[in-house]
This record gives sequence, C-alpha cells and structure tokens, in this order.
Amino acid sequence: MPTAFSAHPEHLWREPEPKAAYDVVIVGGGGHGLATAYYLAHEFGIRNVAVLERGWLAGGNMARNTTIIRSNYLSEASAAIYEHALTLWEGLAEALDYDLMFSQRGVLNLAHTPQEVRESVRRVGANRLSGIDAHWLDPQEVAKVCPIVDVSPARRYPVLGATFQPRAGRSAPTRSRAGGSGSAGSLLSPSPISGCTSATSAHWRYCCPIRSRPSPDPTTRSPCSAG
Ligand SMILES: Cc1cc2nc3c(=O)[nH]c(=O)nc-3n(C[C@H](O)[C@H](O)[C@H](O)COP(=O)(O)OP(=O)(O)OC[C@H]3O[C@@H](n4cnc5c(N)ncnc54)[C@H](O)[C@@H]3O)c2cc1C
Repeated sequence: MPTAFSAHPEHLWREPEPKAAYDVVIVGGGGHGLATAYYLAHEFGIRNVAVLERGWLAGGNMARNTTIIRSNYLSEASAAIYEHALTLWEGLAEALDYDLMFSQRGVLNLAHTPQEVRESVRRVGANRLSGIDAHWLDPQEVAKVCPIVDVSPARRYPVLGATFQPRAGRSAPTRSRAGGSGSAGSLLSPSPISGCTSATSAHWRYCCPIRSRPSPDPTTRSPCSAG
C-alpha cells in the first residue's frame, strides 16, 4: 500500500552495521549532523563518516520545527550565518537532485502594537545594513502580499505593518528535508546508524564509543572509533 514515504528512495532507509573505525563520527542525526556529514563529503571528500542517531533520523527538533527558512534575524552574526544557510538552501535541491519542497514565498511578521512596529522597523534597518532582503510593509502592502490577512483598522488588534523577507520560505514536510540531508549523506556514502546512542550519555547500551573509552556492553552494538 502506498505511504507518505513511498516516494522516498530505498537508499534513505539503509541500516548499515557500524564499522570498527571511521575518520569522523558525528553524534546526532538531526539537521546539523546530517548536514555536517554531507558537507564533509561534498566539500572535503571525507566519506568514511558515521552519523550516530539514538532514535530515528531527524526525529529531534527537526521533526517538530515550523520549517521556516529565513535570514532576517536581528543580530549581525545571526543574520550572516542564516543568510549563508539560506543561500545554501537555494541551490540544495538541484545539488542533491532531490525535491526538498523548498518554496520561497516570503515570510511576513505582523506588528500589532506601536512597540512591535518599533522593534520590527529596527530589525528591517539592521537587516538591510547587512545586505538582507528585508522590507517594512504598511497594512495595504501586507494585504497585497497576502490578501487573506485582514488589515481592517476595526480589528481588535489591527495590523499596523509587517516585516517581509521575499526570499524566505518553507520546506515541508520536515521528513523531506531530513530525507534530503539523509539522501545527500547516503549518496556521498556516510553511514547513518539509527538506534545508536553516543558515549557522551549514560546510555551505553547502543553505543559506539570513541576510541579512548571502552564499551561496557559491547554485545548490543559493535564499538567503533574515530580519527
Ligand atoms: C517547535 C520548534 C520550532 C522551530 N522552528 C524553526 C523554524 O521555523 N526554522 C528554523 O530554522 N528552525 C526552527 N527550529 C529550530 C530547529 O529545529 C533546530 O535549530 C534544529 O533542528 C537543530 O538541529 P540539530 O541537528 O542541532 O538538533 P536536532 O534536530 O534536535 O537533532 C539532534 C539529534 O541528535 C540525537 N541525539 C541527541 N543526543 C544523542 C546521543 N547522545 N547519541 C545519539 N544521538 C543523539 C537526537 O535524537 C536528535 O535526532 C524550531 C525548533 C522547535 C523545537
């Protein structure tokens, strides 16, 4: 029977046995772990990589988040790193040949009070100084961008304006993004190993300990090392 995951290729669901040693062992198969595996392989040719995940791939925060991809953060450092990430997203589906369902339809943050207007206008100013495509919209401009928003001044909390980043968007569902990362990782050959808790926690039962630490229970999962 077809399921929501049927469209995902088989290689996403490999369950490789841990090897004795890897060049790099990454703890946590969320967005950061999978992306790290991908970019290690893609940028540096490091493919002998294990990603250890105690649950299922991308089952942590990745499975819960709102899936908004944007770079209009207030501080210069945050805006810069998210802008770099957004730029990577813009080419990722093509690079992976995998539909990440990334849709750059823009993000609006509505302001309903004078204080929110002040904060929002300040953020737009800071973003623009950093080269981010941020805009401040008045209520009529908000209605043009998103006609279903009721900008009537008669509302209890009327819309006084909004920040708008046109290049921001969403990638949904989360599983697809993780699938994309997992796909990237798998294609470039790191091993995503699910059900494997790292030596950093008290749960050694499914562990792949780093070299200097002995596994107290080597029978449940083969120990492996990095470096
Ligand atoms: C409700 C919510 C909404 C959000 N909305 C957005 C949004 O709209 N846009 C946005 O950009 N960000 C959003 N975020 C933030 C985003 O989800 C996180 O920044 C991102 O998921 C962090 O990725 P990660 O890989 O660090 O962590 P996670 O995705 O949590 O992955 C960590 C993984 O490590 C595994 N793990 C932990 N410890 C061990 C161990 N000892 N051994 C083995 N495995 C282990 C966990 O099981 C988990 O799978 C949101 C977060 C939440 C919670």
